Amino acid sequence: MMPLNRTCKQAAALMVAREDLALPLADRLALRLHLLICKACPRFERQMLGMRNGLKQWRNYQAPD
Ligand SMILES: [Zn+2]
Repeated sequence: MMPLNRTCKQAAALMVAREDLALPLADRLALRLHLLICKACPRFERQMLGMRNGLKQWRNYQAPD
């Protein structure tokens, strides 16, 4: 079992990876924990989510069903 503490760099990498694939439970827990104790990463996560929504709209625009 890996320790649950992550650096901001690792947390950011996990948030990026999460966009494309499901994270293992240990990584999800570690990321959640890091977001609770970190000031900077929740802000980054919001930016990521905003970006994803923008991207989704862009994809819908590019390739309507
Ligand atoms: Zn952080």
